[in-house]
Amino acid sequence: MLAATSSTRTSTEQNRLVANDRKRALFRLSFFLRAFILPSEAGTAEPASTPGEENLSFLVATKSKFQAIRGTRDLLPPETALWNRVEGTAREVFGAFGFGEIRPPILEPTELFARAVGGETDIVSKEMYSFEDRDESSTSLRPEATASVCRAYIEHQMQQLPLPVKLYYIGPMFRRERPQKGRYRQFFQIGAEVLGGTDAPAIDAEVIEMVMTFFDRLQLPGVQLEINSIGHNADNCRRGYVAQLTSALEKVKDKLGTDSQRRIETNPLRVLDSKLEREQPIIQNLPRIADHLCDECKAHYAAVKRQLEMRGVLYRENWQLVRGLDYYMRTTFEITAAGLGSQNAVCGGGRYDSLVELLGGPPTKGIGFAIGEDRLILSLQGAGKVTTVAARDVYIAWMGEHAQSTAIRAAKSLRAAGISVELPPVGQKFGKALERASKLNSRYALILGDNEVAEGSWTLKTLADGSQQKFSEPELLDFLKRSL
Ligand code: ATP
Ligand code: MG
Repeated sequence: MLAATSSTRTSTEQNRLVANDRKRALFRLSFFLRAFILPSEAGTAEPASTPGEENLSFLVATKSKFQAIRGTRDLLPPETALWNRVEGTAREVFGAFGFGEIRPPILEPTELFARAVGGETDIVSKEMYSFEDRDESSTSLRPEATASVCRAYIEHQMQQLPLPVKLYYIGPMFRRERPQKGRYRQFFQIGAEVLGGTDAPAIDAEVIEMVMTFFDRLQLPGVQLEINSIGHNADNCRRGYVAQLTSALEKVKDKLGTDSQRRIETNPLRVLDSKLEREQPIIQNLPRIADHLCDECKAHYAAVKRQLEMRGVLYRENWQLVRGLDYYMRTTFEITAAGLGSQNAVCGGGRYDSLVELLGGPPTKGIGFAIGEDRLILSLQGAGKVTTVAARDVYIAWMGEHAQSTAIRAAKSLRAAGISVELPPVGQKFGKALERASKLNSRYALILGDNEVAEGSWTLKTLADGSQQKFSEPELLDFLKRSL
């Protein structure tokens, strides 16, 4: 009878849930139509503007389901364990190279990026999340962190510290790009900068060696390093080269795509890193920067290559690897990894000796890189370099009041020894407890009933093979510490 009642209730409940689901689905559809399709061009799936008051009250009245904003995502366990491993490895490796961590704010004045990244770049002109703060100042979510690190260097007068100053950062960046695999609107970078002191080629090489060591430690698959030198901004070096490049490009303008045609005017160097297949034969015949470097830049580049060889770092030269902004100079590098499709760059870096000065600081040598952590993780996952750890080391299957206080004590001492323990809040029959223990992917179940507690002899079950062993309390701790 009872069972019948409860199953009737269950089926009524189910009907109600199904009806609710339908309502929700209908609501989602109408919300989608109202908020995304109707006010904007169909197919773009983008709100034409921020929801007005009418939309907001509509949302509140109908209890919309919230979703992460397009291009952003939740990182969840167990994947976050991999993120932590990657970040922990970065801290270890960078620490071993003498770098200290900087945590700059995520919000900065818009003007900082306009100056440091360049007002005409896509990043600043189209992709930045900027807003007017209440004091009417324009504030932005950072699209990258080199500008912030340089600002901090100036603000804290770090030029007075022993030079060079070596800093690394880990954190989210924001760019309003078209989301796709390996490209998000909130993404994470792990980066480092060396500021001040000399521009000795050994510094460039050591920075590159550090990234490669980090990737090696993670066993990142298919790592390929490409390097280039883009000289410096002078008539007898890059500026002279760009003039020649521009006139060569003018001659083949008709054969180029619209993006490259536009770049002849705005940023001719960037034509070289065009990914358009049909432009490649044309690009191959353009003048190359290596033939136009001044003597100092040529010597610096040769020395960087020698230094890389001394460090056993394998590289490939790529004369098409450029940076579009004037303050970038000499060494540029990019690292690609496997399993990422066309978004395969996991790290970009280079020397930027006049950036700090451009931001109002003293003349300062600088070199750095930024690793795309999301892509790094994707590549590691693709290669199966993800060790799945048991979600819990020990599940404590306890039942009875005496057993609970023993279970609490056992949990405390195991956790203090760094062992992860699941302690159910209420006692469970052992069959149920073991079921849950294996659902949670536990390695062991510690069985504590009143008998075990009274006898002081605890049973530990290995869930993989069902074997059981008996221990006294100190023996158990000892055993677990040794086996986990
Ligand atoms: P790409 O050519 O792939 O757009 P980028 O030149 O814009 O890269 P940088 O500004 O040099 O990249 O940033 C360094 C690294 O940060 C890139 O190599 C990439 O791994 C990562 N990155 C850049 N933009 C994104 C993004 N929108 N989503 C995820 N990772 C990104
Ligand atoms: Mg980009």
